Amino acid sequence: MKDSSFITKAKALLRKFYGYDEFRQGQEEIISSIASRRDTVVLMPTGGGKSICYQLPAIIAEGCCIVVSPLISLMKDQVSALEANGIPAAAVHSGNTDIANRTVMEEAYRGNIKLLYMSPERLVMEMQHNDFSRWASFFAIDEAHCISQWGHDFRPEYAELGAIKMRYPDMPVIALTATADKLTRDDIVEKLHLKNPFTYISSFDRPNISISVMPNPGKKEKMKIIERMIDRHPGDSGIIYCLSRKGAESMSAELNLRGYESTVYHAGLSPHERDTAQNMFISGDTKIVCATVAFGMGIDKSDVRWVIHNNMPKNIESYYQEIGRAGRDGAPAEALMFYSFADVAAIQKFIEESGKPGIDNTKLSRMKEFCESHVCRRRVLLSYFNETFDHDCHNCDVCLDPPERIDGSTIAQMALSAMIRTNEKAGITMLIDVLRGSARSEIFERGFDKIKTYGVGRGRSFAEWNFYMSQLLQLGIVDIAYAESNHLKATPYGMQVLHGKASVQLAKYIPPTPTAKASPRKAKENKPANPAERLFLALKELRSKIAKEENIPPYLVFSDKTLLEMVRHRPTTLMSFNSINGVGEKKSLKYWSRFTALIKQFT
Ligand code: ADP
Ligand code: ZN
Repeated sequence: MKDSSFITKAKALLRKFYGYDEFRQGQEEIISSIASRRDTVVLMPTGGGKSICYQLPAIIAEGCCIVVSPLISLMKDQVSALEANGIPAAAVHSGNTDIANRTVMEEAYRGNIKLLYMSPERLVMEMQHNDFSRWASFFAIDEAHCISQWGHDFRPEYAELGAIKMRYPDMPVIALTATADKLTRDDIVEKLHLKNPFTYISSFDRPNISISVMPNPGKKEKMKIIERMIDRHPGDSGIIYCLSRKGAESMSAELNLRGYESTVYHAGLSPHERDTAQNMFISGDTKIVCATVAFGMGIDKSDVRWVIHNNMPKNIESYYQEIGRAGRDGAPAEALMFYSFADVAAIQKFIEESGKPGIDNTKLSRMKEFCESHVCRRRVLLSYFNETFDHDCHNCDVCLDPPERIDGSTIAQMALSAMIRTNEKAGITMLIDVLRGSARSEIFERGFDKIKTYGVGRGRSFAEWNFYMSQLLQLGIVDIAYAESNHLKATPYGMQVLHGKASVQLAKYIPPTPTAKASPRKAKENKPANPAERLFLALKELRSKIAKEENIPPYLVFSDKTLLEMVRHRPTTLMSFNSINGVGEKKSLKYWSRFTALIKQFT
């Protein structure tokens, strides 16, 4: 009873402040958990909707929620977004004067601020002469993976945050991150001293991002494809990731030469130049950034519509994080990657120079396999992150232009059975040799010639088996134990296949012939603008104008997704404008007349 009335209230606030009618998956449970003052851990992909998970309980709770964030740019973005929705929020940071920071702290103390953002070092410092338990509601730790040495973004300042629970054992702490792996998750719980936390792990799928991968077709053709991508998204923001600073510079120059205005971002620029490039991109004044991987952290921009990888990234984690910068608002977005052997060689060289080759080389191989995959790209990605995803996505190049398929259940069963019978102690080459009945001495030494599946796969060449094995890996039927000499293991899904409880479709092996050419993947046509597209463009223009007037980025006025809702429903009255998904009370009153007047011109 109490619970359902709580949810009703939370929903009413979701509508009032954010203009959304429904919670996304997980949000309701997470909000309830915080409201019942339980420690909570949230793992959701970028764009999953983490902010609302702590912002809504902060609105409901008495007192001020303290939010820890690693970067000033992220704090500023969040505070602007909250203020635009009519929620009192502020940040204390080194970019402000001491007096300004002190005023903010006093306002928070007096109860005039619902969410207060600060860096971890600031929080630790404030804790020395401030009793947060008297006026704070709870603590939210954003980008919580920064606490883990296992993660890709360890920050020593985060390590101090364990002090929160030590000092205030009864104050709830919510930790949020887009990093999925278990090591990091366990580290977060341990280092923050969380007590029996409620943990929510969402799917890491980003269904609105379409995924395409193609071999580098040569510079001329590649530039044409990139131009088509830009033309498909007129007026939209996009990122081109390049392997090197030089690559980013020359890509930007190429685009500018062709009349597409772009800027560069890499670690070789001065901090000031980098800030300028980043701010121009966030505000929408620059639409295209040609960047190295240095670009992206610290950007919450929700309206990036496309990401191109000019080169193959060094591993799947980086790739997924980078394409994840597109489409955070949930509206359709595109990711396209070019790859080549030159990329592989360049990355191998980096790895050698870094001096820790083992795991990095294995990850590079998985990246390469992903590029050459003949199964749904999303299945490959999600199974890499150990998520079961048992259907094709229909939003990747393989799904949209599929190769010929065969029933691969028997093939999979042969391989799985051989794996089990060798006690899962064989790597991929050994396993194929066993299946093909090879006579190499190691097989006899280890007694693998005695097992029942020895030689059952004799009818297929090594290359053919290799082709099928890599698909089994990509489908999540087989996994590689990196810590155990790369031995192959059957996954729970694989065991179902072995016992005939699930069937497997595989791309058919076609032996290479000297004349065979890979058929190029078809790119979508650039359709002429229809009335709906023209309205969408006009709405975007109005949004940019308002953003300029208010000095905030356009996506904080309304997201692309909300503009698309307006295109669909064409609201022309305050009432109908108010009911658009993504239009909250404050924005409705502020903007309805300008938007509905524009929409009237199109109806
Ligand atoms: P994250 O922090 O996980 O990357 P955000 O909190 O920035 O994600 O949310 C991503 C986008 O999804 C934002 O535009 C946000 O307004 C939107 N969003 C969040 N929750 C909902 C919801 N319940 N309904 C519709 N849109 C939502
Ligand atoms: Zn797919």
